[in-house]
Amino acid sequence: MEQKTFAYWQGKADALTFEGRALIDGEFRAAQSGRTFECISPIDGRVLTTVADCAAADVNTAVAAARRSFAAGVWAGQNPRERKAVLLRWAALIRQHEEELALLETLDAGKPICDTTTVDVPGAAYSIEWYAEAIDKIGGEVVPSDHHLLGLVTREPIGVVAAVVPWNFPLLMAAWKFAPALAAGNSVVLKPSEKSPLSVLRVAQLAHEAGIPAGVFSVLPGGGEVGKLLALHSDVDCLAFTGSTAVGKQIMQYAGQSNLKRIWLELGGKSPNIVLADCADIGRAAQAAAGAIFYNMGEMCTAGSRLLVQRDIKAALLDKLVAAARRYKPGNPLDPATSMGAIIDQVQFERVLGYIETGRSEAQLLLGGEAVQQDSGGFYIEPTVFDVPHANAKIAREEIFGPVLSVLTFDTAEEAIHLANDSDYGLAAAVWTADLTQAHEMARRLRAGTVWVNCYDEGGDMNFPFGGYRQSGNGRDKSLHALEKYTELKSTLVRLR
Ligand code: NAD
Repeated sequence: MEQKTFAYWQGKADALTFEGRALIDGEFRAAQSGRTFECISPIDGRVLTTVADCAAADVNTAVAAARRSFAAGVWAGQNPRERKAVLLRWAALIRQHEEELALLETLDAGKPICDTTTVDVPGAAYSIEWYAEAIDKIGGEVVPSDHHLLGLVTREPIGVVAAVVPWNFPLLMAAWKFAPALAAGNSVVLKPSEKSPLSVLRVAQLAHEAGIPAGVFSVLPGGGEVGKLLALHSDVDCLAFTGSTAVGKQIMQYAGQSNLKRIWLELGGKSPNIVLADCADIGRAAQAAAGAIFYNMGEMCTAGSRLLVQRDIKAALLDKLVAAARRYKPGNPLDPATSMGAIIDQVQFERVLGYIETGRSEAQLLLGGEAVQQDSGGFYIEPTVFDVPHANAKIAREEIFGPVLSVLTFDTAEEAIHLANDSDYGLAAAVWTADLTQAHEMARRLRAGTVWVNCYDEGGDMNFPFGGYRQSGNGRDKSLHALEKYTELKSTLVRLR
């Protein structure tokens, strides 16, 4: 078998072709205005292709096709067993095209090829398989009621679902939405991020090859305006959003200004990772703490961007943490040995460097802090660690979405809980301790949608609901609970006599 070296991936990348047109009503189309934008690779700043810059006319066409297909029942009206078969075919096609899709993701988003081949692409296929396998096994309820009545409680697809997603996991975040929404029988209009539209366009093409009927799954590349138009559209029944808290707040307003469509938000985070002095394995905690912030260049909604460490073990933990962080060396993401790729684009690159500058004035820099590989034409930043003296520092409060870790120090578990919960966000949290009672008590008190104990970012399977408390959003992706977002609950009462 051919060894998949840097040269192997580079060769494949050079031979790759790109599709940048919108996929509307079963076919690829240019934006009706004819406008395009450039899709730039963060690896080297090279223009990969041009992409349709969709606008109101394209949104209206895609939503109308979605409504038509939903009303005709070409997908919603199929036996769930039939939908399952199509979805499983689609997932199999994604697995067959794993290399091509991983390359698209790596070139477009700067993510290491060792991650896109093992996490992003198989993860997207798995999401589709998981909901495909679930959907023909979920029934409704016959509920207790008056003797003369038969009472049924059923779930129905909600209709036209719009999904608006970010760039950090372009395919996976999209799949967490379109997989349950399509499995439930909805028609879906997806807007990928303008920074990473390529992989989902190809995946949507494969959906049609697998048998998803025209109109049921459209993809509209474009800027934030396309998301806004979908959120304001009166014929969209539900909008599922993953992205920043600031845009999430606007989307709720658009729903209020239009048809009160259901809005589901998966937003930002500033997740605390708490290490208590009785932690059984400081080495493992340090390694996990480095992975929690430097995996995917820190472009993680769940990034453990606040490391809370008990004073007694601070020096020992930081020694090991810095050693673990040094192993994340920014490099060309097409090299399978690279564990840290490129920052998504110039804007985000400058934003992260801006936070690092702020950090220099409010905290002590322990590691990193520099842009590197600048002669590549791409956007690379070293893993950066700050020892932060007070919790109100800007770098310890705001989501940076880059490889920048703030370390905060505490003396008691009570203080750690207070620090952890003192945030607008509540997406994830972790606690490291050998004391089981302490672990459970702290897990209960942490205001976050996911709590890890003696680990971080574990649990890749679909059984765990994923989402946030407070300004990290509402509703949950993954698990059977995600189906609640894409269905309406109906009570049917039949008078028997
Ligand atoms: P973003 O909010 O800038 O953009 C997200 C999407 O919204 C993009 O497709 C964008 O084009 C679109 N958009 C922009 N303005 C819009 C508007 N006014 N109306 C409608 N749509 C609009 O976020 P981003 O920079 O792409 O992604 C980073 C953010 O995503 C971070 O805050 C991160 O924490 C969050 N995120 C959250 C999760 C989660 O599951 N909670 C997962 C991944 C990323």
